[in-house]
Amino acid sequence: MAISPDKYHQARILDRRDVSQDLCILHVDPGGPFAYRAGQYATLGIERDGVRTERPYSMVSSPYEDALEFFVELVPSGGLTPSLFQLQPGDSLLCRKIAKGRFLIDLRSGRKNHLLICTVTGVAPFVSYVRTIYRDWKNGAAPLPDEHKFFCLQGASRSFEFGYREELERCASEAPWFKYTPTVSRPWEDARWSGETGRVDDLLRKSIEAWGLQPEKTTAYLCGHPKMIENCRGILERARWKREAILEEAYYQVAAQEAGGSA
Ligand SMILES: Cc1cc2nc3c(=O)[nH]c(=O)nc-3n(C[C@H](O)[C@H](O)[C@H](O)COP(=O)(O)OP(=O)(O)OC[C@H]3O[C@@H](n4cnc5c(N)ncnc54)[C@H](O)[C@@H]3O)c2cc1C
Repeated sequence: MAISPDKYHQARILDRRDVSQDLCILHVDPGGPFAYRAGQYATLGIERDGVRTERPYSMVSSPYEDALEFFVELVPSGGLTPSLFQLQPGDSLLCRKIAKGRFLIDLRSGRKNHLLICTVTGVAPFVSYVRTIYRDWKNGAAPLPDEHKFFCLQGASRSFEFGYREELERCASEAPWFKYTPTVSRPWEDARWSGETGRVDDLLRKSIEAWGLQPEKTTAYLCGHPKMIENCRGILERARWKREAILEEAYYQVAAQEAGGSA
């Protein structure tokens, strides 16, 4: 099938950092103008033997950056990620010209606390929020983050999977409007980890209390593993969050045989 230059840029890998065997961070030159807002996603694709395979990926980068940044997990049986993981700097890929998504910072509701909950690569849109707000904060821009506060809870099986822990911890140590708690669900496989343990679902109630978050003042954002999203939505609703105060970005549909495997 011919690739329409109206719809696609020929993007190019600028560099890649392998976080682990199945997690990598890609910097991509979109190959042309690509406007987006923090929290949106790009549609990336590869064409092999006349077959084009495309998938959505949330931008990690802030719209202030030139390159797009993505945090990608390999799904060994997947249609795209095995090919995506073979790409090296200089290699090309397809990028739809239009960014999409409504998983944006909620500035409309009047709620000024933002509770960001994610598993592994689900941190991507949150890093984009934080980088964008940090830049605005440094430049003295309103309305963020004067009154708005951000609280991020990230789960992973082991600590090397967080991807952006150093960056987020650095920001949390500097910015009074940001708190970050990473938690590891398999501490027995991570002997040197001394931080929080358990899944984000396990820590959510405790974190809400520790951070003093109230449902009527807090928008919750859930991103990543669909089972984590389902569990955390239930916890939030039982803690009196209304449905409209819970925003969700599920990265995939949970397979029937996969029971309760969220980090
Ligand atoms: C809005 C949006 C943003 C996304 N952003 C990111 C991102 O920033 N980083 C990222 O890595 N992925 C992201 N995804 C998921 C991504 O689009 C692909 O689904 C994923 O990379 C797998 O692609 P694939 O073609 O290799 O596997 P597929 O052929 O799409 O999937 C094969 C099977 O694996 C399951 N599956 C898909 N992903 C996973 C997973 N991570 N773990 C376990 N099983 C899975 C599917 O349900 C399916 O049953 C996002 C998805 C959405 C909807």
